[in-house]
Amino acid sequence: MDSDFADLLAANAAFAETFDLAGFDGVAHAGVAVVTCMDSRIDPLRMLGLKSGDAKIFRNPGGHVSSAALDAMVLGVHLLGVQRILIVPHTKCALAMNTEAELRAQVGAASGQDAAWTSWNVVTDQVAALHEDVARVRSHPLIPDRVPVGGFLYDVDTGLLEHLI
Ligand SMILES: [Zn+2]
Repeated sequence: MDSDFADLLAANAAFAETFDLAGFDGVAHAGVAVVTCMDSRIDPLRMLGLKSGDAKIFRNPGGHVSSAALDAMVLGVHLLGVQRILIVPHTKCALAMNTEAELRAQVGAASGQDAAWTSWNVVTDQVAALHEDVARVRSHPLIPDRVPVGGFLYDVDTGLLEHLI
């Protein structure tokens, strides 16, 4: 059973030998929460100069502020020390470079199954979508005004964040 994951478990064993996060309280020590995309080109902690334990990170395809993301932000703000929230979509995101129909077709072709029923939160205008997402967080009844909410675009080619909202 472990063969599929053997390399990762071996790496984990080495990680655990020098594990230094035991007893950690789970609070965001830098008071930061980030909603961003699952894209493997994004390293949310490193891009902000943060380290393990500093931030709450919520990821999904596109970095969309979904209802689950809002739940995470509410928990973060009230129970886990979050004082600032960054919403961070990125350049060259598959969710902004394809239509729903294109993604359905690609998933259908790759899986060999009917994927016509899937929904992907594709955006045609990333900046407009970011405005909506930031507004969704700012206007949430359980996100207090004292918590700054910023909208940013991460450039996967330069590593730079552009502060848009
Ligand atoms: Zn993406």
